[in-house]
Amino acid sequence: MGGSKIGKMIYNFGGGDAEGRTGMKNLLGGKGANLAEMASLGLPVPPGFTITTEVCTAFYENDRQYPDGLREGVAESMKKIEAEVGKEFGSTSNPLLVSVRSGARASMPGMMDTVLNLGLNDETVRGLAALSGDERFAYDSYRRFVQMYSDVVLGMEHHAFEEILDTYKDERDYYLDTDMQAADWKAIIEQYKAAVQQKLGKPFPLDPEEQLWGAIDAVFGSWMNDRSKTYRRLNGIPEEWGTAVNVQAMVFGNMGDSSATGVAFTRDPSTGDNHYYGEFLVNAQGEDVVAGIRTPQNLTRAGRMRQGNDQPSLEEVMPETYKELTDVFVKLEGHYRDMQDIEFTIQEGKLWMLQTRTGKRTAKAALKIAVDLCEEGKIDEKTAVTRVNPAALDQLLHPTLDPNAERDLLTKGLPASPGAASGEVVFTADEAERLAEAGRKVMLVRVETSPEDIHGMHAAAGIVTARGGMTSHAAVVARGMGRACVCGAGDLRIEKDGSAFTVAGRTIAKGEQITIDGATGEVFAGAVKTIEPELSGDFAKLMEWADKHRRMTVRANAETPLDAKTARGFGAEGIGLCRTEHMFFDAERILAVREMILSEDETGRRAAISKLLPYQRDDFRELFTVMRGLPVTVRLLDPPLHEFLPHTDEEIAEVAQAAGVETEVFKRRAKALHEANPMLGHRGCRLGISYPEIYEMQVRALLEAACEVAEETGDAVVPEIMVPLVSTKAELATLRARIEAVGKDVFAAKGRTLDYLVGTMIELPRAALTADRIAEEAEFFSFGTNDLTQTTFGLSRDDAGSFLPLYVRQGILEQDPFVSLDRDGVGELVKIAAQKGRATREGLKLGICGEHGGDPASIAFCELVGLDYVSCSPYRVPIARLAAAQCALAGEED
Ligand code: PEP
Ligand code: MG
Repeated sequence: MGGSKIGKMIYNFGGGDAEGRTGMKNLLGGKGANLAEMASLGLPVPPGFTITTEVCTAFYENDRQYPDGLREGVAESMKKIEAEVGKEFGSTSNPLLVSVRSGARASMPGMMDTVLNLGLNDETVRGLAALSGDERFAYDSYRRFVQMYSDVVLGMEHHAFEEILDTYKDERDYYLDTDMQAADWKAIIEQYKAAVQQKLGKPFPLDPEEQLWGAIDAVFGSWMNDRSKTYRRLNGIPEEWGTAVNVQAMVFGNMGDSSATGVAFTRDPSTGDNHYYGEFLVNAQGEDVVAGIRTPQNLTRAGRMRQGNDQPSLEEVMPETYKELTDVFVKLEGHYRDMQDIEFTIQEGKLWMLQTRTGKRTAKAALKIAVDLCEEGKIDEKTAVTRVNPAALDQLLHPTLDPNAERDLLTKGLPASPGAASGEVVFTADEAERLAEAGRKVMLVRVETSPEDIHGMHAAAGIVTARGGMTSHAAVVARGMGRACVCGAGDLRIEKDGSAFTVAGRTIAKGEQITIDGATGEVFAGAVKTIEPELSGDFAKLMEWADKHRRMTVRANAETPLDAKTARGFGAEGIGLCRTEHMFFDAERILAVREMILSEDETGRRAAISKLLPYQRDDFRELFTVMRGLPVTVRLLDPPLHEFLPHTDEEIAEVAQAAGVETEVFKRRAKALHEANPMLGHRGCRLGISYPEIYEMQVRALLEAACEVAEETGDAVVPEIMVPLVSTKAELATLRARIEAVGKDVFAAKGRTLDYLVGTMIELPRAALTADRIAEEAEFFSFGTNDLTQTTFGLSRDDAGSFLPLYVRQGILEQDPFVSLDRDGVGELVKIAAQKGRATREGLKLGICGEHGGDPASIAFCELVGLDYVSCSPYRVPIARLAAAQCALAGEED
């Protein structure tokens, strides 16, 4: 293709300046944009260049062909690096080596590939040896390069190389890599190259130019590998974004004991505490730290004391470089006004910055950091509100171990991701996924995790690894997912055949229960009791700030006094859905409900109803007392009949006996009531139309209860009587007239009146499409998006679970529409109904009470459509409050 459609393809950085900036993340990827920014801040960044994400997109649009001019551009930029560092790519006396890394717009840890030490071959390695005066280092770098390049670019299995090395060491009684001398590495390199020749039928590429393009191809190619696709799917990252490629002069952390490499966070990513946090390895290259092959040392003395690590910290072994590094931390955090995750290398005492990015953190840390930064005056309240991912608040509401529960400690690893969880032990990601799909709770136990394990980590209740530090793959990914995780439980050994693990002389077989506490790193045998969390003062502060900036109110779906109390405690501003059929699940009550349903005539039904009325009134009295002063939407009975009909002969006999009716009569009746499609059958308002006495009883019970609570407490609720599953105006008109008649009756008997509203759910497409007419009868609409999704897609709520995951895996649906609102279809109906409803009745109150009311993305849609409130389950109320504030703030910005 011609280069005309594409802008500048390459951005250079280094030497105290850069062509790009942080704001160019879409084009340069996160890593490239931040490298450019660090270089422009005058920080010590090895020079390099970034090939833009537009090139990646063009590459895929054009049948994996690069745009014209790219090759020339890369050559020019390589010259710039050479000039900056005074070395030459491919030179046998003074060779420049580079790293090639991917860098997508959103951080994708471990998903994309990296090649280090590129440019080495049999000749240039001699130059490196002469230049560094360290032959061992040169050949160690070369073998690392051959191994990494063969793995990432040539697609060789890395264990082939590990086997070669292990055999070589075994034969010579070597124990550590440091036992290997230059001659040993030379021999290993020859064996590696032979393995490549044998496996691929072609030699390992020795031409640096070919190596460079091979690596660039591999980075772009890896954008479409399965691991990246999985990660994108799980994190909602669009395919079109593409990745950038970063080529950068190598600096070496493996040039002896004055060299090191490490990662650091400017605040603790687990707790949010304001202290530096990090790990490093002496005489190592960057990938060694993240890979978790050696156990790293702590950055600070205090950190090492906290962890009980007896190896000295960087602060202790290289105090000057440590000081320089912490100055950089201050500068970067001040510049980005957020906690940073930093990679650095020290080459013979000189500090180099390799990466900075906004650090991933637990929900607890996110909350603390947002509140602290605001109180330190670094960000304002609105920014603080946007800094916490509402979905991650779930983590704060996660259970912890009951301090009084018996515990049988097996081992202790690193506290990688908080939350307490138990499950049966499995050893592979596939098995974790399979058992989780069958509804089992599993604990994934691995030596270490890799990107291939993501699906299993997602499926597991928790993750345990034997190897790896707090920045290992398992730790970073688990934290991001909000899974409990314990890393680096070093004394844990997994049997080769995957049947069990052993630890401290004990054996735990596959399938046995274990419990982990991701906040302490402890692993216990058996299932330990957990308790619900208490929320910190920071939580209340952030919620208060969020509430200031929210437009929509947040209600809860609740029917029991306990749920209502929980919801109020979490800040619910009313009840958006009280499902009255849920008030009848109790054994005694369900008997009366069954009697009511099975009765053949009104007399029988009224007899059953008279049993239910006192329960119902008492329930409402309790509920209204909890919710005093707030609106409560009570939905009239909507029982899909199959959920309520008795199933066995015994159950039928029991109901018949309670009703004083022949069993045979009810048997016949149960058969007659059986429906082929109960979800589309005799439910919702259809039941109210056929059996008026049911809704009459409910309205009477709720209005009487409301009057009594108002009388007793002087503080009334505002009942909003909601009719379910309406599809025509006539249905609602009929029922509304009956509701009002009961209202008059109750108020006359009580000698007082009370404000109440009559409205409807919008949960059928016909209701949405005729909302203008329905609004003539309705004082409010509440979108029942569970049924609306079911009926819009023609997709059974009860059966879709067996095939919807496949749809999502195959990308046919982006997300499960029962979890996140389908904006194009269901959302369109919501929009139409809102507009039509408000065209008839200005200021018509609009809310949502389907499960989507607690989903941040769906809440954002509700804000766009102009709903007045969202309603969700009690534990999601804080999530909804924060999400509602964030989307209101996003709207302000537009
Ligand atoms: C709905 O359909 O969205 C709804 C809230 O009602 P239910 O889930 O009880 O059918
Ligand atoms: Mg419904």
